[in-house]
Formats: sequence, C-alpha cells, structure tokens
Amino acid sequence: MTNWLSLAKSNNDNLFDLIEKLVSIETPTRDKAANDQISSFTANLMRSIGGEVTVHSETEFGDHIAINWPAPDGNNGKQHALVVGHLDTVWPRGTLEQMGYSEKEGRLYGPGVLDMKAGIATTIVGLQTLKHNNLWPDRPLTVLFNTDEEVGSPSSRPLVEHYAKGAAYALIMEPGQGSNGALKTERKGLGEFRISVEGKASHAGAFPERGASAIHELSHKVIDLQAMNDWKNGITVNTGLISGGSARNTIPAYAEAIIDVRVRTTIQATKLETSIRALKQTVNGTTINIEGGFHRPPMERTPEIAALAGKLIEWSNQLGFKMTEESTGGGSDANLTAAMGVPSADGLGSMGENPHAEGENIEIREQINRLALFMKAINSLS
Ligand SMILES: [Zn+2]
Repeated sequence: MTNWLSLAKSNNDNLFDLIEKLVSIETPTRDKAANDQISSFTANLMRSIGGEVTVHSETEFGDHIAINWPAPDGNNGKQHALVVGHLDTVWPRGTLEQMGYSEKEGRLYGPGVLDMKAGIATTIVGLQTLKHNNLWPDRPLTVLFNTDEEVGSPSSRPLVEHYAKGAAYALIMEPGQGSNGALKTERKGLGEFRISVEGKASHAGAFPERGASAIHELSHKVIDLQAMNDWKNGITVNTGLISGGSARNTIPAYAEAIIDVRVRTTIQATKLETSIRALKQTVNGTTINIEGGFHRPPMERTPEIAALAGKLIEWSNQLGFKMTEESTGGGSDANLTAAMGVPSADGLGSMGENPHAEGENIEIREQINRLALFMKAINSLS
C-alpha cells in the first residue's frame, strides 16, 4: 500500500522550490504579460509529464490553459476528473519587493502564497509524483488554470463550465477556509445589479413642476431593495454605491445605484433576480433601467458534495491530520463547477492566514499533508 505521506515528504524540496518560483512571478489579474508568463511556465511543466496543453488565448487577461491526459488504457468510458486553479493574484506588481518572501515559525510568507500559488504548486508536484511512481488514475484527467478568478472569472467562466461538463468530480485547489483550512462545501451565489434612472431636470425653486427627480425615484428603489433582505435565510441585498444629480438647486435628471446580492440556493437566486427585474417606476416622468445578474451561481451542499467532502475528511484522518468542512459567503470557480452538477471540493490547496491581506502565509507542515491528500484523491477517487 502506498504511504502517501512519506511520498509527499520525499517531494518536500520540489514542492517548496516550485511555490517560491510561482510567488516570484507576480501576477496581478489585469497584467496580461505576467499571467502569460506564468501560464506558459506551468504549461511546460505539465507537458513534461505527458499533458496535452490547450492554450485559450485572451486579449484582456492572461492566456488560460487546459491540460488533458487521456485515460492510460485508452478510451475506457470513464468520466474525467477535473482540477481547477487560478494563476492570478490580487497583489499589484512590486508587492513582493515590499512584503518579501520569508519563512518564520513554520510559516511561509509572501504575496499570493496562500491564494493560491501553493495550491498550484501542489497540483503540479502531485501530478509529477503520481506520474513518476506509476500511481496515475485510470480515468481521463483535465487541469484548468485560469488567470481571471480574482475578478470573478469573466473570461474563463465558459471554459470552467466547458471542462466541468460530464466530470466525475472537481477539485478546486483554493486555500481552505479560516485558520484550520476547512473544505468549503457551500458557497453563496453572487450577483451584481445596476439600476439607473432617467428623470427630467428643471430649476428646483422656479419650476419644480416641470422636473422629474431621478434621485427621488431611485430612493424608492433603494427602500424596495432593502426590503428584499432575508439574512436568516442567507439572502443579502446591499445598495453599496449610489450617485446622481448635477447641482443642489437642479431637479436631478439622472441617478444610479450598484447593488451586491448574495444567496444560498438556486431557487433564491431565481426569485431574487425576478423581484429585482420586476421593480417598477414610482415617480411620474422618470424611467428606470435594470441591468446585471448573478455571475456566480450558488454552490449548494448536495448529498454528492457532502459525500466527496466526507471521503476527503476520512482520508485526511488516515493520513494523520484533520480536515473539516464549512460554508462561506465568498465565491470561487467551485460555484461554477457545482452549478454544472459536478460534485466539487473546494479549499484543498493549502492552509494559512490572511488571504488578500498583509501577512499572507501558509503553514509549511500542513502543505505536505495537502500534497499527500491531493495525490491520494487523484489516485483513488472513483
Ligand atoms: Zn483564490
């Protein structure tokens, strides 16, 4: 029987060398050149273990890459496995020089190390190790690395959905939740709406009757939106930005608001979107226009998702460490794979502190555990 933990430990240097290399290539989402560099670097590593790389060229973002390995014994009819990770980070160029890359008290600090260069390195080193030790799974495998996850995967969403179609399961190598690095088995759906109102300008003192106030109209809508909150059941509606008007003494001809919405279930998403789109004009002489929608569907904790998490947690116990599962209000590409009906496990990649914040770090010892679990999962999930 394979001792996954000692196999992981024997790759300690490979793993941490690669994490350092990946962190050293700074990849803010909107920096196409940097993301192209890291996607071609990782593509070459995958080619050297037999992966067939498809480069999905982008103009605005870095190129996304999909790497495919057919089943070792040809087309055996088995569903493919999918692994998803993002190469971009939220950190601007130059952060590395400021923040540095350092080790302190069993933790590695650096911009993007937790979210999610460690998860990318774990995927690559894990697959290299499986390949070199004849532990490759008996099903087709696809790895998708995208470069725009940190802004909501606007250009890679169709790819995530394409490669998720028909998958047996999906592992999303994001960092685990909280300080114990829990698997995320439930994620809220995320949407953004924009309501703009056209009114009619007029002198506020001399001819108020000739105007129609866009701000007055929008105020009604803000109150209607506020009433759609149902925090207890996981529905949040927040008018986070508002603007409008042109002068103190002019009846405002224009106003707009940007609204953040989050839900727990697909049914809630459909209902909420319908209610928002059904908002009607209240103030005579104004017109309202509603745009937007859900860019991340909710990831619901289906029995299949619970079962997948259960297996991973059981294996983590066998390997001698303890994983847990939690729900979160934030979104990731797991929302997309889960909405395709694919059992998805998110948060496998690493455990650490301060994602997107000063002092971002991973716990070094836990990263070896995660590598062992990743290899075991790819080898054994059926
Ligand atoms: Zn991430």
